Amino acid sequence: MVPVSFGYKKVRTVDEAVAAMAASGGTILAGGHSLVPALKLRLSQPTELIDINGIDSLKSITEVDDRIIIGARATHAQVAGDALIQKYFPMMVAGASLIGDRQVRNYGTIGGSLAHADPAADWPAMILASDSTVEVHGPNGTRKIHSTAFFKGLFHTDLQENEIITAVHVPIPPTGTRSSYQKFIQPASRFAIVGCAVEKLPDGTVRVAFTGVSDFAFRDAGAEEALKGKTIDEQTINVAVNASLRGVRIASDHYASVEYRTHLAQVYLRKALVAVM
Ligand code: FAD
Repeated sequence: MVPVSFGYKKVRTVDEAVAAMAASGGTILAGGHSLVPALKLRLSQPTELIDINGIDSLKSITEVDDRIIIGARATHAQVAGDALIQKYFPMMVAGASLIGDRQVRNYGTIGGSLAHADPAADWPAMILASDSTVEVHGPNGTRKIHSTAFFKGLFHTDLQENEIITAVHVPIPPTGTRSSYQKFIQPASRFAIVGCAVEKLPDGTVRVAFTGVSDFAFRDAGAEEALKGKTIDEQTINVAVNASLRGVRIASDHYASVEYRTHLAQVYLRKALVAVM
């Protein structure tokens, strides 16, 4: 397939990117591993591609006070191999390493994945379970969107016109926190048919997030409530599994029916909980 004709502009700063979007109505190009297929299928028909691969400030992963700040242009491979991520977030190391193949991990970025909001993408579940916040910059300045408010629908986020994701802020978890990301992999693309991320804090808080299960990634309030303040054991896992997915519109497609996907989601919730016991 051949994309429609479009312009191309390489920018060097975030402000330049925002100005370019406002001027042309163009679309950000990061790793291109979701956008280019969409261009080829003409699902995306931008006037101009605004290439942010020259913005070096978006590439860093740094520790600032009580957070790790991951730049939007950090690739999946970069995140998985980063010493700070390895120190604090084993869930993200495992999850990022399971994304696609080596080429996808070397080109695809965390910011691109979050902006694209594919219902089967891995980052959304991990960002939700780690209680992260997405930092965006636009014509009205910078704002921070908590992960629970970021994902709005199928390929739809809270990003407003001419806003760019600049970073993800991940709170450093207290010592003793355990986390796990488990996914049932679509064997060709390695996207999640279902994925479940769990973070258990020493104070008894447990955050549970799913991807691949519905139109967009979400925190599971029923499972979280069932686990709050409890020791995670066989009995509480059973209670949490039974309490999970309430009121969720489960997706159905040629990979999994509603019944099968529901079953998979509960199996992968159980696996993630066993991993943090
Ligand atoms: P791009 O493709 O460049 O952009 C995607 C969208 O996000 C575009 O609309 C673009 O305008 C927008 N965008 C990009 N960056 C920003 C930003 N900073 N601010 C605002 N908007 C922005 N993903 C998984 O999660 N799990 C998988 O197993 C998986 N397997 C894959 C297998 C294959 C074969 C391929 C091709 C992709 C796969 N992906 C998978 C998707 C991959 O992770 C993509 O790289 C990712 O979804 C998009 O990141 P990107 O940097 O390539 O973004």
